[in-house]
Amino acid sequence: MSKIRAVAVLLLLVFLFTPLQASDWTLVKHGGRDYVTASNIASFYNLGKVEREGNTFRIGNGSRRLRGQVGGAEFYINALKFILSYPAAEQNGEPMISRMDLVKLVEPVLRPSKIRNAEPIRTVILDAGHGGHDKGARSIYGNEKDYTLDVVRRCKAILEQQGYKVYLSRSGDYFVSLDDRSAFANQFSNAMFISVHFNSGQSLASGLEVFTLAPRGVPSMASDGPRMSDLVECKGNKRDAENMALATATHAAMVGRSRLFDRGIKRARFVVIRDIGIPGVLIEGGFLSNSHDAKLIASAQYRQLMAFSIAMAVNNYQRATTANPPPFLAKAPQVQLRDESGAEIQPPANGEGSEASPTPEASPEPTVEHAAPAVIPPPESTTEQPQPNDTPKPEA
Ligand SMILES: [Zn+2]
Repeated sequence: MSKIRAVAVLLLLVFLFTPLQASDWTLVKHGGRDYVTASNIASFYNLGKVEREGNTFRIGNGSRRLRGQVGGAEFYINALKFILSYPAAEQNGEPMISRMDLVKLVEPVLRPSKIRNAEPIRTVILDAGHGGHDKGARSIYGNEKDYTLDVVRRCKAILEQQGYKVYLSRSGDYFVSLDDRSAFANQFSNAMFISVHFNSGQSLASGLEVFTLAPRGVPSMASDGPRMSDLVECKGNKRDAENMALATATHAAMVGRSRLFDRGIKRARFVVIRDIGIPGVLIEGGFLSNSHDAKLIASAQYRQLMAFSIAMAVNNYQRATTANPPPFLAKAPQVQLRDESGAEIQPPANGEGSEASPTPEASPEPTVEHAAPAVIPPPESTTEQPQPNDTPKPEA
């Protein structure tokens, strides 16, 4: 090794393993948990001043906007809704979020190009929920198992056109166990897993949500409360950062197009996202128990739109996390969603959606430095990577 090269390697090592400087992050203990202040986040990511109005705090402006509420778990990045693992808190008049949410949510969403070991994606595993005797949720128009299969078939066609290899965990109307689905996914590398479902609940419940694996120690939002098993590291946890970046790309692509209510990106330990070694996400594409959503889901146009959004998310994720993105060739279908009478389908008017009508496309064209989650930023040239269990480190 030449002397110059040795020095360069040494410098790189020093750079990679430099311990946290006190000026980077100040951890605040709150309720036995580590938190970081909003102003600390603002200065680290160079987002200007923190604005405060009642319990609401805002960080940044333009194309990188964060918003939270003291005591609340809803957190917005560029108007896209995330559900924090722990509610935002306050100490000495300073709003704060947990270190867990900083490391596992804010960092991979704001800087996906810094995700360590993110692999370029060549293969997409599409998982149609339910099948056979397991019909899933149902509406007066049809069954979840048929809608999920239709969406993945449409999506497969789009992704194959773009040069991806696509495999379906089930390609017909038959039952596949959850364990068989994750085992199927685990045969592949340089791959991602996208599970498609539709929801069921109270008749007023509506909208889109995307689930990503809960980090170790974080309670699943799909269970009643904390469990001992939350403390166990799952196979999928080694992809925590990729999972969040994929969930963000997926949710942004769907919420931006569907005009359905944004229920947010949530944490769970569903078997199919828990036991896989590749990045994965589970989409709930609307409520079959809600008359507005059910009508929409019954329309082929909406399912095509979902398929297109998923394909777009795959590309956005790829572009955000790796240096060699494939071109996104398909054009967005221009759809006017109409019901049987020909009337345009409108979002529910129950006021539930008033908080969130994110239109990522409407925001100004993002630059490399300041990009919206909908089009997660293109890669930066640095080799520095965040440590998964540590606080993020500054830009080079
Ligand atoms: Zn389902």
